[in-house]
Amino acid sequence: MNDIFKQDIKTLVQLQEAESEIVRLEAVLEKVEKEKGKLSIRLNRFGKALEENKENLLRASTGCRDIEREIQIVDDHIVRSNEKLRMVKTNKEYQLLLREVDDNKKRKDALETELLEYLDEKEKIEGIVRDSEKEYSLLKDQTEAEQKDIDKKSTDDKELLDEYLDRQKEIGKNLDPLLMKRFAKISKMNNGSAVINVRNEVCMGCFMNIPPQLYIEVQRGNSLISCPQCSRILYHIDS
Ligand SMILES: [Zn+2]
Repeated sequence: MNDIFKQDIKTLVQLQEAESEIVRLEAVLEKVEKEKGKLSIRLNRFGKALEENKENLLRASTGCRDIEREIQIVDDHIVRSNEKLRMVKTNKEYQLLLREVDDNKKRKDALETELLEYLDEKEKIEGIVRDSEKEYSLLKDQTEAEQKDIDKKSTDDKELLDEYLDRQKEIGKNLDPLLMKRFAKISKMNNGSAVINVRNEVCMGCFMNIPPQLYIEVQRGNSLISCPQCSRILYHIDS
């Protein structure tokens, strides 16, 4: 009887060693995934800004085309008025058309000034789009390289995690399924720590003093004793 418990304790300690590694590796890998996610978010944000710039450019181009079209219309009016001028009979008509031509010329001047401003703005936005396209492409390459690098670095950790999971399964075969359940439950309660040693009557998991009678039982190792405070299964090593 005595030996069975001692063997169980030994197995539980091994199980705990694997569990601690599993918890550690899972935390590392989780952090890695977060890092990769952050890089993607950064790239997406930049991509969105690029899209906005492209939309601005489209708006500026449309604005330029609209003004150019308007100038064409005004120009046509001027041509038509000039043609009419050659055929007028009265001075009154002549003056009227002359004023019309004059008004249209002023309108055309104003539109041309506006067009220049628009073209200027469009050119500026084109520059911005060109630059941000280049930057985006660089950032995309950089992000992919960084994510690849992260993946490469975590390959070992992933393999190691699988190894420990396998090892834990193997070790678990030597334990009563109920005991395995108990282990898993306590581990979940204590962030992956289910089995802990007692030193100088203190649980090294929660640092509570173990009642003397319980401490003696832990030292004897004839039964599985849980810490009254944190529920971890306690064991004792002579030092
Ligand atoms: Zn404890």
